[in-house]
Amino acid sequence: MEKTTLFYVIIVILVVQYLIHQLLEYLNAKRFESEVPKELQDVFDGEEYQKSQQYKRTNYRFGSLSDGFSLLVTLAFLLLNGFEWLDQLTRSLSDNPIVMALVFFGLIVVGSSILSAPFSYYQTFVIEEQYGFNKTTKKLFFLDKLKAGVLAAIFGGSILSLFILFYQWTGPNFWLYTWIMAAVVILFMNLFYSKLIVPLFNKQTPLSEGSLKEAIERYAKHVGFELQNIFVIDGSKRSTKANAYFSGFGREKRITLFDTLINDLSEEEIVAVLAHEVGHYKRKHIIFNLVVSLLLTGLTLFILSLFINNPQISLAIGVSTPSFHAGLIGFVLLYSPISEITGLAMNYLSRKFEFQADNYAKMTFAATPLVTSLKKLSKNNLSNLTPHPAYVFVHYSHPPLIERIRNLKA
Ligand SMILES: [Zn+2]
Repeated sequence: MEKTTLFYVIIVILVVQYLIHQLLEYLNAKRFESEVPKELQDVFDGEEYQKSQQYKRTNYRFGSLSDGFSLLVTLAFLLLNGFEWLDQLTRSLSDNPIVMALVFFGLIVVGSSILSAPFSYYQTFVIEEQYGFNKTTKKLFFLDKLKAGVLAAIFGGSILSLFILFYQWTGPNFWLYTWIMAAVVILFMNLFYSKLIVPLFNKQTPLSEGSLKEAIERYAKHVGFELQNIFVIDGSKRSTKANAYFSGFGREKRITLFDTLINDLSEEEIVAVLAHEVGHYKRKHIIFNLVVSLLLTGLTLFILSLFINNPQISLAIGVSTPSFHAGLIGFVLLYSPISEITGLAMNYLSRKFEFQADNYAKMTFAATPLVTSLKKLSKNNLSNLTPHPAYVFVHYSHPPLIERIRNLKA
């Protein structure tokens, strides 16, 4: 089949994105050798530092390999008319647009999961294992993949079906209805993800009575933060890496602490981490992020509605019979430079918000325990102490450790 200009535009987008990301990885990797800033010299001792740098080099090489592989597969699929072949196969099974879309996307998702599974397996059972992070068993690993797949099929399949129904019923206004549906799903997930989805993968128990809970409650009362739900999650069954996060709002707001965090940090440090999370809430970051993601979704759907009927979008991925499902894939690929830019903007804002949350913790609690907790967490996660600024700009949702510490000590 004749390739259109947009087909080559997609190829260029994919290759340029790959090259930019590889350049960033390369710049970042070149700084693995640089000297650790004075304030961070107590994070690792000499031997641990070597181990942490080795871990980064291993991940760098592995990342280049898997990114290169996925680029090659995608390009080959496009150039060898893979989408056209898949479309014909789909059409031979059904002529119902919803069934076709489900089969078309289903096969793409299954195919790419099969191709990426060995990489994910190697990452967990060779790299993470070698550096002592991995706690997951092979059984748990496959069970996780299976559950995630079933969930994705149920949620993704229903959302896609409704999406096409709206398209059939309402024509050009379908984006508005899809947006309303997306808003309901996003809000619902924000409120109930921890209650409904997390239990499928982890056990969560309310933080038990004791001095830690008292310390947290004392702090929450001090800043006028109503907190009913503090949960401890068994993150240790998969990894030694520690974390804490905030979710929901209103009465559904909850703080989730990893059991690994409780083991690694002192009580004062845990309260400091919590104060940072409360800072995100009090500074309205949670609501802001929710509103922005709703607006971005609406904007994307609106732009999609302008192009979805254009047969050129299906042709752009080499599919000769225009359809909603082929148009959707063509659109996602052509739109990806714009999503990269919105991603950059979101990361930039997120780093600003991290400083604000740190400042909140400093003002309402204390800076020192937050500094020591961040150091401990960086040490345990073998974090990069000297990332390249361009890499930080593109990829980091949190400022590098040194900047956070300088801000906390200022
Ligand atoms: Zn934060």
